[in-house]
Amino acid sequence: MPDVLAETLYELIVATRILANEKVLDAFGHVSVRHPHDPQRYFIPRHRAPELAEVSDLVELTLDSEPVRPTDFRLYSEKVIHGEIYKARPDVHAVCHHHAHAVLPYAISGQEIVPVFHLGAVIGKVQFWDQRDEFGDTNMLVVKPEEGASLARALGPHWMVLMRRHGATVAGTGLRELTFRTVFGCDNARLQSEAMAHGRVDALSPGEAKLTAAHQSRPPSTNRAWDYWVRQVEKAGLMPAHAAAKAASNTGTRAKSGAKRAPAKSARKKSVTSRRRR
Ligand SMILES: [Zn+2]
Repeated sequence: MPDVLAETLYELIVATRILANEKVLDAFGHVSVRHPHDPQRYFIPRHRAPELAEVSDLVELTLDSEPVRPTDFRLYSEKVIHGEIYKARPDVHAVCHHHAHAVLPYAISGQEIVPVFHLGAVIGKVQFWDQRDEFGDTNMLVVKPEEGASLARALGPHWMVLMRRHGATVAGTGLRELTFRTVFGCDNARLQSEAMAHGRVDALSPGEAKLTAAHQSRPPSTNRAWDYWVRQVEKAGLMPAHAAAKAASNTGTRAKSGAKRAPAKSARKKSVTSRRRR
């Protein structure tokens, strides 16, 4: 019988590597997945660059973004983005937060991103959220539960929200659909920018966007794209070892399995003090 939890955790790391390899994630940004057996929990890697994330780095959190088990891992300060969206949207099973350059001009200018080619239809109606509106001057990071909840409200029933002067957050019903939407959301933004430089942008009609999004969100498309992106990750030598997923799952705790590899608290504290949290 397939170990659904182990496969889910492995796919979370593969999705993270894909999005790093496709230049959506860089040093920052993160991907999470809802627990396949417990909708009140989710998994996200510990605080580190996405491309470096391993299954043993995964931490299990409640929807209040608190660790289920004590852990010495440093966690992403913006984890509430994930927890609050899972709380507000039972249909969402995977979330990505990123600062890809392709979408940032839209987050900065307030110009709407619209589907401009068939694969871009999966972004749906892209929403805007401005942290400043409700919270005034902040350090621009979404760290308080109420900030995450506000972002989740802005997302509403949609799938992508642009965060003004910061980045974007994308939701999916699963990891493969999320990866598809995130990559093609960036491609769509890049193409829209190029088309705008040419002059007129002829976007999909609302009817075309709806029909196309429904078609492209199905497994035949998302699996085909997934297989292609996995091959690119393999070619780049970035594929995580599959056996690690099984071993980590067998321990029953992510934090415990990763703790062996984590440096002592004092040493770790020294090594991260100068790093920026995101
Ligand atoms: Zn961010």
